Amino acid sequence: MSIMDTENKFCAHNYHPLPVVLTHGEGVWLWDDKGNKYMDMMSAYSAVSHGHTHPRMLKALTEQASKLAITSRAFYTDKLAPFLEKLCAISGMDMALPMNTGAEAVETGIKAARLWGYNVKGIPDNQAEIIVVQDNFHGRTTTVVSFSSDEEYKKGFGPFTPGFKIVPYGDVEAMRDAVTDNTCAILVEPIQGEAGIKIPPAGYLKGLRELCDEKNVLLLVDEIQSGLGRTGKTFCFQHDNIMPDGLMLGKALGGGMMAISCFLARRDVLELFQPGSHGSTFGGNPLSSAVGMESLLVLEEEKLVERSAELGAYMLEEIKKIDSNLIRFIRGKGLWIGVDFDPAQISARAICERMQEKGILSKETHDTVVRFAPPLVITKEEIDWAIEQFTSVIRDVESTLVAA
Ligand SMILES: *Cc1c(COP(=O)(O)O)cnc(C)c1O
Repeated sequence: MSIMDTENKFCAHNYHPLPVVLTHGEGVWLWDDKGNKYMDMMSAYSAVSHGHTHPRMLKALTEQASKLAITSRAFYTDKLAPFLEKLCAISGMDMALPMNTGAEAVETGIKAARLWGYNVKGIPDNQAEIIVVQDNFHGRTTTVVSFSSDEEYKKGFGPFTPGFKIVPYGDVEAMRDAVTDNTCAILVEPIQGEAGIKIPPAGYLKGLRELCDEKNVLLLVDEIQSGLGRTGKTFCFQHDNIMPDGLMLGKALGGGMMAISCFLARRDVLELFQPGSHGSTFGGNPLSSAVGMESLLVLEEEKLVERSAELGAYMLEEIKKIDSNLIRFIRGKGLWIGVDFDPAQISARAICERMQEKGILSKETHDTVVRFAPPLVITKEEIDWAIEQFTSVIRDVESTLVAA
């Protein structure tokens, strides 16, 4: 049986992969089992912002793995403290709670906000509300899908966790109307990645910040995908010159090597956790701490944030030059660009399949948007090559549509 058939037989079908079997990667490049080479325009949903098998990441991983990998937090290790000290310095947060996956960081933020709501704000027991927005994506646990507005994420998984309200994205007034005395937090992505790289109106986060200050509500920002350079700033909230009260990080924090996540917040929020109240067997282990630390150092020393800002602006401009009536709109910030295709003419999936034939791997989101989110180590020449391939895919599709 082929590898693809075997995977389809033994692995649950909760994804619909493109028909390619990858065997190794280096920087922005991936190779399949037939020796074909592809450019990665997906970066594993931003988890590979540092590029594949980055030599420094690999060294940090293997060196630490050969010394001490997993201990549980029943003990101190020499790696966790410097990692979290650095992460707090970069983000401006006071404390961190280390987890593994993004969804766990979100769950941790929800727990922290509720603790704060009961213990500090004085919300009556079990009445705390968190306000989220339409088309949010915060992960796949049962509580997190409870407040999704996407039926696909929820169907068949009820009953759902109460305590969440959904309002339209990008609308501060709608948020204001939804806040009550029992609201402990507002939770948003500063740019909605999975919803199709949706960018809210300028000043949205600033408006939410003011609202939260006025109403004594925590502003929680999920930067699991947008954070650590993807949008051309270290954190997307920096575009609005604000500080959130809580911050979720994941994906790129693992430097393309492993699952590392964190919920960071102000001291008066995170200090409410007591021993035994929350935990994770693997969270904060010395292996992930060493890898997380190195991912932050590489980000700084290789100026990946600055690269994302400069090359992202260049790439967006170049994509906008491709004049085609197949495209409805193009949006992006940093090296994070979504191209929305007119579904009456072609699906985003069909574009991705054609790009694969030209040596570019990407993934559609929500049927109409093709995303371009390369590792931040990409060069201008590599971007030019990708634009050439993408343009030729579009011209091919245009000519077949005209012929038909
Ligand atoms: C990917 C993602 C998550 C979930 O992270 P996992 O590691 O898949 O659990 C949460 N929030 C956002 C914004 C994400 O992009």
